[in-house]
Amino acid sequence: MPDPAPARKGFAPARTLRDAASLAAAGLLPPGADLAALSAVAARYAIAVTPAMAALIDPADPRDPVAAQYLPDAAELATAPHEVADPTADAPFTPVPGVVHRYPDRALLKPLLACPVYCRFCFRREVVGPDGGLLTTEQLEAAIAWFARTPQVREAILTGGDPLMLSPRRLAWLLERLGEIPHLEILRIHTRVPVADPGRVNAALSAAITIDKPLYLCLHANHAREFTAEAAVALRRLTAAGVVLLGQSVLLRGVNDDPQALEDLFRTMLRHRVKPYYLHQLDPAPGTARFHVPPAEGRAILSALRFKVTGLAWPTYVQERPNGGGKAVVGPVWGDVAAETLATG
Ligand SMILES: *Cc1c(COP(=O)(O)O)cnc(C)c1O
Ligand code: SF4
Repeated sequence: MPDPAPARKGFAPARTLRDAASLAAAGLLPPGADLAALSAVAARYAIAVTPAMAALIDPADPRDPVAAQYLPDAAELATAPHEVADPTADAPFTPVPGVVHRYPDRALLKPLLACPVYCRFCFRREVVGPDGGLLTTEQLEAAIAWFARTPQVREAILTGGDPLMLSPRRLAWLLERLGEIPHLEILRIHTRVPVADPGRVNAALSAAITIDKPLYLCLHANHAREFTAEAAVALRRLTAAGVVLLGQSVLLRGVNDDPQALEDLFRTMLRHRVKPYYLHQLDPAPGTARFHVPPAEGRAILSALRFKVTGLAWPTYVQERPNGGGKAVVGPVWGDVAAETLATG
C-alpha cells in the first residue's frame, strides 16, 4: 500500500503514477475528487505522472501549472463540437506506417507512441499510450527504406510518442541507419524526456545521440518550473553531446497564459541553452477545451513581450490549420504590437 499521507511539494513517489487511485494515494488529487469519473478518463486517455513531475506539484495549490498539465480532469469526458480526434490530420499523409510526409523537405517518423508523461492537452491523445504503436523492426526498416528512396526529404524528424523512450540501443541503431542516408542532411528529435523524466538522459542515451550529422532536439516544456536541477543536468549532457536544443511550448489556459509566465519560461529555456522555437496554439483534440486560449489573446500576450525580452527568447507562434493544412503563423503582427505599446505607454 502506498503511504496514504498527503504528499508535500517535493515528495517524489518511487515510480510513475498511472491511475487515479495512485494519484489519490500520493495525495496529488484535490479533496473530493471523483475517482470513478477520473478512472473513466483514464480508460480513454492514458495517465502518467513521473516521480520528477509529481515532486513539482503542490497539492495545496489549486492553480498549480504542473498539476494542470498532467492530472486528469472529469471535463476530458466531454468533447466540444469543434474538437476532432486527429487534429493534425496525419493519416492522409502517411506513405508507410509511422511516417508522416506533409512538407516537401522533411518528414516525421514515429517509432513509438509511448511518452514519459501523458499531457492532458495532447493533440495525439487518441493514439498515444504506454502500449501503443511501437513499430516492429520490419516496419522501421520499411520506414527507413522510404526515407532512402525519397531524396527531396532532407530532414527526418523523430517524434511519437517520445523517441527518447526507446532503449538507447534501439535509438542508436535508428539514428545510425538514418544518418547513413546521404540526402538526409539533418536529424531532429521532438521530446519531453529531459524535463519530464530527466534520469533517462544517462550516459547510454548520451552515447546514442552522439552522431556525425547535425542533430536538433526540440524540447517540449510549458512552464519555467519544469526546469529542475535534474533537467539542467540532462540538458547539459545533450549539449555536451553536440545536440542543438530548441524549445516548443503550447499556449495553455491555467499554465502559461500570461506575459510573465511566458517570459519566465522563455528566459529559463535560454539559461539552459534551449532556443524557444515554436509557441503552439492548442490543437482541438477531444476533451481539451479547458486549456483553450483564443488566438487574439495569445497575440496580445506575446505583443506585451515584444520589446521587453531579448529576441533570442522569441518563438514563432503557430497554429495547425485544419485538415492537415500545416502550421500557419498566428502573429503577433505589427498592428498588435503597436496597439500593445500604446496601451502600456
Ligand atoms: C510540425 C510538423 C513538421 C515540422 O515542421 P517545422 O515547421 O519544420 O518545425 C513536419 N511534419 C509534420 C507533419 C508536422 O506536423
Ligand atoms: S509528450 Fe507530447 S506526444 Fe506525449 S502526451 Fe505530451 S504532448 Fe502528447
